Order: sequence, then structure tokens, then C-alpha cells
Amino acid sequence: MTFKLDGRTALVTGASQGIGEAVARRLAEQGARVVLAARNADKLRDLAAELGAGRAHSLPLDLTRPQEIAPRLQELPAEFAAVDILVNNAGITRDTLLLRMSLEQWQEVIDTNLTGAFAVTRELAKGMLRRRWGRVISISSVVGLMGNAGQANYAAAKAGLIGFSKSLARELGSRGITVNVVAPGYIETAMTAELPAAARAGLVQQIALGRLGRVDDVAAAVAYLASEEAAYVTGHVLNVSGGLYI
Ligand code: NDP
Repeated sequence: MTFKLDGRTALVTGASQGIGEAVARRLAEQGARVVLAARNADKLRDLAAELGAGRAHSLPLDLTRPQEIAPRLQELPAEFAAVDILVNNAGITRDTLLLRMSLEQWQEVIDTNLTGAFAVTRELAKGMLRRRWGRVISISSVVGLMGNAGQANYAAAKAGLIGFSKSLARELGSRGITVNVVAPGYIETAMTAELPAAARAGLVQQIALGRLGRVDDVAAAVAYLASEEAAYVTGHVLNVSGGLYI
């Protein structure tokens, strides 16, 4: 099998459901040990139990509390402590038009989607630098490339992840660490479940491949970027949108 990750340890934020859960499952299937991070401890525990002790470890973590992140990561059990692959996936939306957007709605999205990724990456990059091997993969969105009315906060955070990642790719490349971004289009998850049928049909018309994406479409892209085979790919934004953004 290609993209084998035997002997590697991954940490996935937002692993309690949706894309993050699919990514965690996929990385575990490829042979990695996986740390599952999110707020919902019950869901993480269930997924960790399903993936198997020794294969997965649940780490309840709230990314809006950056001061708690480093201590929590430093408490990881020894067999999960050397994180080689970080997937910054956790994210929220607080959609509304600019003039109705409160400072709280702006800040909550920036804190979770961008500052949370910064805090986790800064902590885990230390070990990657020491070991001279690492993969940092952040889940942005085509909205960070295209913009979207009603999502100024979300688009700013997602575009921010791209600038953050391109900078780190330059900063960390000489130490064997690659830093890349996956920019999904519309993927069927809880985040997009509330889309009314008419809006969904209109959207599908704009997608070259004529369907919404599946979580596994995104997980496959992450598995590639995490692999040894992707060793010469860094600073890249991999658009997984079915041709919504070309
Ligand atoms: P979901 O809403 O299904 O999952 C979001 C995940 O983020 C959950 O596991 C949630 O866990 C976690 N999370 C939210 N807030 C926090 C927090 N403060 N601290 C820790 N974890 C948190 O979303 P998707 O799976 O759809 O999205 C995953 C990522 O992909 C997001 O970054 C999203 O922006 C991006 N994306 C999604 C697209 C889509 O169409 N679905 C398209 C493009 C990008 P918990 O509640 O347990 O904390």
C-alpha cells in the first residue's frame, strides 16, 4: 500500500466528527498512531476505543483557550508524545453579513480557526524540529481563496491559514518539515447539513464534478500530504473542491 505511515504519530484537531474524524480514521488505517483532539470528550473516547488502544488516544482540548494548549500537549503519554504529523482541522462558522457581524462572531471564528492552529503548531513544531521530520497540514477552504458573502470572518481565518502555512513552509523546510494546506469545497458534514435544498441544487451546478464532496475525498488528500511520497511538496494549497474553484 502506498502512503504508509507506520511508526508515525499524528494529531488531528476537530477529530470528534466530520472531516477530522475521517482524517483520523484514514491516518490510522495507513498505520499511524493518532491523537484525537476536540472538545467533546465522549465522542473522542468512543472513536479512540473503536480505533484501538495503542492506536489512538483521546485528548479533550478547547482551541479557544490557547494558554491551556501547550500544557495539555506536554501531558501526552510517551507513546503518543512525538507528534510527526499535525492536522489543523478544527473549525467553526458564525455566518452573517458584515454590518450584522458582532466582534464576538468575528473573534470566535478567528480564535478557533486561526489562533488555535497557531498555538498547536507552535508547540508541536518543537519536536518536529528536533527530529528533523514533520508534516503540518491545515484544512482551509476554497472560501479562503474565493471569498463568500456572509463569511467575512471565516474567509479571513481560512485565508490566514494559507499565509501562515506558506510562511512556515519557508521557515521549517530546511529541517525536513513540510507545511501544506488542503482547501475543500462543499463537503457533506454537519457544517453544511443545514443548506436548504434549493441552495444545494444551485451549488451543485457550480461544481464541475456535479456533486458535493465526501469526507473521504478530503481524508485522501491529507493522507497523501502526510506521506513519505509527498516529501518534496511544501507551501502548497491542494484544492479538493470537485472543480468549484478552478
Ligand atoms: P464539523 O462542524 O463537522 O466539525 C468541526 C470540528 O471542529 C469538530 O470536531 C469540533 O469538535 C471541532 N471544534 C470546533 N470548535 C473547537 C474548539 N474550540 N476546540 C477544539 N475543537 C473544536 O465541521 P467539518 O468536519 O465540516 O469541518 C472540518 C474543517 O473543514 C473545518 O475547519 C472547516 O472549516 C473545514 N471545511 C469544511 C467544509 C465543509 O464543506 N464541510 C468545506 C471547507 C472547509 P468539538 O465540537 O468536539 O470541539
